[in-house]
Amino acid sequence: MLADQPTSPLYDVEPVNSKKRREQLYEPRKKIFPKRANGRFRKFKWLVMLITLAIYYITPWIRWDRGPFAPDQAVLVDLANRRFYFFFIEIWPQEFYYVAGLLVMAGIGLFLVTSTVGRAWCGYACPQTVWVDLFLVVERAIEGERNNRIKLDAAPWSFDKLWKRVSKHTIWLLIGVGTGGAWIFYFADAPSLLQSVATLQAPAVAYITIAILTATTYTFGGLMREQVCTYMCPWPRIQGAMLDEHSLTVTYNDWRGEPRSRHAKKAIAENKSVGDCVDCNACVVVCPMGIDIRDGQQLECITCALCIDACDDVMTRLGKEQGLISYATLKDYNANMALAMGTGQVVQPARIRDKLSGKLVDAIKLTDWRSIVRPRTVVYFIGWTAIGLAMVTALALRSPLSINVLHDRNPQYVQMRDGSISNGYDIKILNMTPEPRTVMLRIEGLEGATLTAGDQTASATAIELQLAPDKVMSLRAFVQVPAEFLPTSQTRFIVGVASTDGAVRSETETTFDVPEHK
Ligand code: SF4
Ligand code: SF4
Repeated sequence: MLADQPTSPLYDVEPVNSKKRREQLYEPRKKIFPKRANGRFRKFKWLVMLITLAIYYITPWIRWDRGPFAPDQAVLVDLANRRFYFFFIEIWPQEFYYVAGLLVMAGIGLFLVTSTVGRAWCGYACPQTVWVDLFLVVERAIEGERNNRIKLDAAPWSFDKLWKRVSKHTIWLLIGVGTGGAWIFYFADAPSLLQSVATLQAPAVAYITIAILTATTYTFGGLMREQVCTYMCPWPRIQGAMLDEHSLTVTYNDWRGEPRSRHAKKAIAENKSVGDCVDCNACVVVCPMGIDIRDGQQLECITCALCIDACDDVMTRLGKEQGLISYATLKDYNANMALAMGTGQVVQPARIRDKLSGKLVDAIKLTDWRSIVRPRTVVYFIGWTAIGLAMVTALALRSPLSINVLHDRNPQYVQMRDGSISNGYDIKILNMTPEPRTVMLRIEGLEGATLTAGDQTASATAIELQLAPDKVMSLRAFVQVPAEFLPTSQTRFIVGVASTDGAVRSETETTFDVPEHK
């Protein structure tokens, strides 16, 4: 070491991976032990949790009769046959635009919800939120309420701590297995897949999928919890661009709560101004994200509203009006803040002394219909509805028969000995119904033309075909025009397919090519 090494902090370079540097760059994770909240939002969250979990676990077991030639699972992603079944809807690979439409609808729906009620998706229905809630139920059942969990965490290892931790993590892992197990049932017939999984005869990919989803569910829901929302999920960043002053967010009404005091009576006796917040910390200890909503809007807040429940409970016990923490728009908050500023006199129940008139006025009412129905949300709603209606209409009008014709590129035509010209085509006919169907394949709009297709030997203008249920028929076809009817240039004509009773049909246009000099 050099004797004259400078001692200035500028030269005090710590190794990048030293503990000191790590602590400077990253705040260590604070363990969060959320207390169970009670109240209307907690009840609503239980309900949403039950419904979403029930939908996830039960859906693959719902049956839907589609006849003897199609699977009877109501919701099925049939990768082998490249089909997606959703109750009465069957989506074929070439109809992927329906899935794209659903994704666009989901995106616009999320914009609509976020711009009206903030991060309601995050707080109530996001799988991360739902599964963390479920994992917390297990944790509370085994380790007890918040204080017991904190004590247990700090306690040295003992038999009691060991069995509680082992039990908790075992049940978490079982939930993970159940989550991964339920997922694979969406991709194959659930009862038969369950049997083959249980007898270890399922394909390896099934076990790998279960293992991956078990690991991710256990890690995200049990171990990482709020870290996933804060550091991994892009949604908190995206939502910042969608919220505006009319969006509802969970808000601490500090115009009413401040100055907070744990000793309100003493402060009042000393003629000091006090707000409604008694600094009891109830809103902080229930927060699953470990934040204090009284510090203002924070990226971590998932607007689960549990702090509202906690504070409402405190206010009720103190005989004060609920709503010190509430869903509010920034506009309402600012208006109330402006009213309360100056005198700072907020009078029960949520009345403010106007600093100009000196009169008591009602606090600005929390949101009304105008904060929901506004140009932005109307545009989102119209876009969402229009796509939905377009998809429903397209589904209702779509033909269960579909034909696709591909003209040969090389050779474009073949001249026969008798002077007639023949063109070749690859034809695909889709029977999108779960029963066999007899159809007529015909050509129209090409004078004198005859058709030969599949194993037919005689030419005709219409050919009868037997379509298998729920299958694509591929066949080679040739259209031949005698010399006396030959067009002078490339001609467009129609190839159509129709059921024998004419009830369903599908047609497409293609070309008939002739030599240039003709
Ligand atoms: S601050 Fe309130 S709304 Fe936000 S995450 Fe915490 S408990 Fe939920
Ligand atoms: S629960 Fe209500 S009264 Fe208690 S600290 Fe939070 S805001 Fe203040």
